[in-house]
Amino acid sequence: MLARVSDLTNYLYCPRLCYYRLRFNEDVVTEMHAARDIYISRRMNMDEGWAFEKFKSYFGDENEEIFNKSAEKFIYNPILDNLKAVEWELLLKSEKYRLKGSIDEVVRTESNSKIPLALSLSAPEKEIWFKDRIRLTAYCMLLESSEGYIYHCFDGELRKYQMGRKEKRDVLRLVERVLKIKNGFIPEKKYDKKCNSCFFKKRCLKEPSTFASKFFKKIR
Ligand code: SF4
Repeated sequence: MLARVSDLTNYLYCPRLCYYRLRFNEDVVTEMHAARDIYISRRMNMDEGWAFEKFKSYFGDENEEIFNKSAEKFIYNPILDNLKAVEWELLLKSEKYRLKGSIDEVVRTESNSKIPLALSLSAPEKEIWFKDRIRLTAYCMLLESSEGYIYHCFDGELRKYQMGRKEKRDVLRLVERVLKIKNGFIPEKKYDKKCNSCFFKKRCLKEPSTFASKFFKKIR
């Protein structure tokens, strides 16, 4: 049984949301999905029309507005042309770390090693958002690298990341928690302002809040 990198970031958002995503397997289309298709198309010297065809082949015509909003905000920073991309959306898994995921882009460095590049939307003032550090650390672990990049699609900000021991431990702790959910544990709700924009809000409100000790059949 493996945890996906996206499960880890779902768990960080809210453990109960991670449970719902695993249980009901519902995909929510976001501007990030569109930004990823636009980014990859640009890096492959394809145009936005191509990115839209790719986007709608998976998410359907009904999400055109999401794509258009993302395309309006998307910034391609020419500094990216200095990075030699060798692969996109590379699926990797590691039995050692009980982890699997799709790396947005793999870049070859001057010393000929391969490092991950993760995509995000807007950059914090300094450094890298915690959720993005977790994602990048998980990518680094999958690719057996110790560094990577994060590219912020809506402000064109490219930042370098050096994996630390603490982040690696954080990833392993999150893997444990996600696998616990996959094994039947139902985490408690975590009410805060995030609930207002949560896709599962309606379902969550209807369900009892204190059944943390209940178990249900394993999620595959
Ligand atoms: S509504 Fe709130 S507590 Fe419920 S899953 Fe969403 S974020 Fe979590």
